[in-house]
Amino acid sequence: MLDSHCHWNDDTLYPERNEIFKRAVEAGVTTFLVVGWDVASSKKAIEIAHEFPGVYAAVGIHPENLEGCDDHSLEEIRRLSFDPKVIAIGEIGLDYHWFSEETERQKQQTWFIRQIALANERNLPISIHARDASQDTYDILVEHRPNAGAVLHCYSGSPEMEERFAKLGLYFGFDGPITYKNAANPKAAVQACPLDRILTETDCPYLSPVPYRGQRNESSHIVEILNAMASLKGIPPKAMEENVANNFMNLFHVKL
Ligand SMILES: [Zn+2]
Repeated sequence: MLDSHCHWNDDTLYPERNEIFKRAVEAGVTTFLVVGWDVASSKKAIEIAHEFPGVYAAVGIHPENLEGCDDHSLEEIRRLSFDPKVIAIGEIGLDYHWFSEETERQKQQTWFIRQIALANERNLPISIHARDASQDTYDILVEHRPNAGAVLHCYSGSPEMEERFAKLGLYFGFDGPITYKNAANPKAAVQACPLDRILTETDCPYLSPVPYRGQRNESSHIVEILNAMASLKGIPPKAMEENVANNFMNLFHVKL
């Protein structure tokens, strides 16, 4: 099994990363993508990736972390992207949830586009964070195609938008919310997702699945997410596991 989006570089998980790795491997989760959200967390993701087998890194600047970012920050991300353990640029994208001002949203769009350009220059796929910004995310991806592929992480948008994103060749990552009883949107999104585009992720330390909801999340909980995904799709967990592994290899060009 694999966790295609986790934050062991977060302060709450970083000191315990040895135990987190161990518990995950014991649970059968053996591949991990640790994702950065700014320059410092991207550096940390790379550091962690070099500590453990099966751990990879994504480097990038999240739309909520643009304050103080300048050309130098982008150059740093570019420099980091040359590390052999880096398999993606991310997480990058748009988050309009807390940002209602047009100038702020434009700044997010500019940085999203700049980092897609960087990914294309480096021939790396991107990991996208899109919150309350489906249409603008779509429009940017149409105009600035990520040439090496992309995943919409923690997808919970409408099945209609999902179909349009799928037509662009995107992958979709699903997390703990697909196990929540009343989470109709994430469940519907899994059901509408093409099997060859689906990925498991925890986004730990956030979004713990049932029965750990409300507690700190960690990568061993992929088991609950994979099982929920398999039952929503009506296929055996083992078949879903193999399917997800193939999708991960196709998107990130990593041999598992
Ligand atoms: Zn994340």
